[in-house]
Amino acid sequence: MRYISTRGKAPALNFEDVLLTGLASDGGLYVPENLPHFTVEEIASWAGLPYHELAFRVMRPFVSGSIPDADFKRILAQTYATFAHPAVAPLRQLEGNEWVMELFHGPTLAFKDFALQLLGRLLDYVLAKRNERVVIIGATSGDTGSAAIEGCRRCENVDIFILHPHQRVSEVQRRQMTTIFGENIHNIAIEGNFDDCQEMVKASFADQGFLKGTRLVAVNSINWARIMAQIVYYFHAALQLGGPARSVAFSVPTGNFGDIFAGYLARNMGLPISQLVVATNRNDILHRFMSGNQYVKGTLHPTLSPSMDIMVSSNFERLLFDLHGRNGEAIAQLMASFKLGGGFSVEPDRWTEARTLFDSLAVDDEQTCQAIAEVFAATGEVLDPHTAIGVKAARECRRSLDTPMVVLGTAHPVKFPDAVEQAGVGKALALPAHLEDLFQRPERCTVLPNDLAAVQAFVAEHGNRGKPL
Ligand SMILES: *Cc1c(COP(=O)(O)O)cnc(C)c1O
Repeated sequence: MRYISTRGKAPALNFEDVLLTGLASDGGLYVPENLPHFTVEEIASWAGLPYHELAFRVMRPFVSGSIPDADFKRILAQTYATFAHPAVAPLRQLEGNEWVMELFHGPTLAFKDFALQLLGRLLDYVLAKRNERVVIIGATSGDTGSAAIEGCRRCENVDIFILHPHQRVSEVQRRQMTTIFGENIHNIAIEGNFDDCQEMVKASFADQGFLKGTRLVAVNSINWARIMAQIVYYFHAALQLGGPARSVAFSVPTGNFGDIFAGYLARNMGLPISQLVVATNRNDILHRFMSGNQYVKGTLHPTLSPSMDIMVSSNFERLLFDLHGRNGEAIAQLMASFKLGGGFSVEPDRWTEARTLFDSLAVDDEQTCQAIAEVFAATGEVLDPHTAIGVKAARECRRSLDTPMVVLGTAHPVKFPDAVEQAGVGKALALPAHLEDLFQRPERCTVLPNDLAAVQAFVAEHGNRGKPL
């Protein structure tokens, strides 16, 4: 499988090289040159497979030529054995034909484990073969950091540095990062905000001289391997609800358009998906595009669903590429004008094309709390705020009551106690067994000033399993 850039100028890469890259050299994002396509009969024959076996069948074409089948199978079996539920991604019924797919049974209790548990293992496999080491530098406002650290903690060939804004992430989220020790794990609290952290990561990718020749790898959802891993659970859900003989709809709480883009790909690979609902919080750039063809940068609003607090949506470029007939030059122009002017619309027929599949809703904090309270009253289930936004959007936007609607349950509610409390749900939530003593564990973290040179010096000093690069 070959991968091409959405801006048309960077060289095509194979899977291995795409895995070890961030942005393409032309500023674009990598996508498969040709998407695999499965027949209805083929998909139907996968009913009842264990999650890792299904994962093998769905993802095999994407890694072909880079990872032999037997190795890929073993990696996938190990990856999904770390999940605490035997079904890996169980469905729970909320009401008639409405379901939550629980994607929070991984080590860090959020859906990012599906991709990052795999990413860490793939990196180690590929790097061992090439006899190379890499450095990961990532910024987090919460879930990405812990999932990336958990995913890479046992990697022999990866050193990981996660930047979070000092005293500005929740205690659960901080402890999920800082209580994991290893020579190759480095938590850095920056005396600044999340944007400062993200800027430092971007600047480090742009100029990697401080790494003395060691390669930098991205762990955010611009990394293709993360999107790839997320395609699988759309198949998993549909197969349990009568697919592919019947269509299924999904509602996806989204910020960077990563998770929902995976659903779009699942449909293009042959899975009958009749509708995808884009569920955002008040940071609604995606909703403004879907509802009114305006992709315009707004201001950042902190919300009760912090993992979706974004101003621009990086993976949206991957959808735009398809909407523009995969014309890289057109995307390069569009993104250049976005950078200059902060917004654009697309031609009406392209927008209409997107709307045949996508609907959207923006949900504010008050409505989020209402949704948590409503679902609790009706079912006794406590939803996390991101999932609650998905439920609210599903109910507002649903096109057909005959089609099963699956809401992606992106996080365990215990990670977001503020929202659950504000919703007035009087149910004490317990941490799962493997995190029971989280608040007693010792922490390790380095506080650094909001200064790129200081951070890069720290990485150079510790980037080789705690020793200088
Ligand atoms: C990361 C995250 C999201 C948003 O996912 P995208 O891929 O950016 O759309 C939603 N909910 C939770 C809990 C998350 O951690």
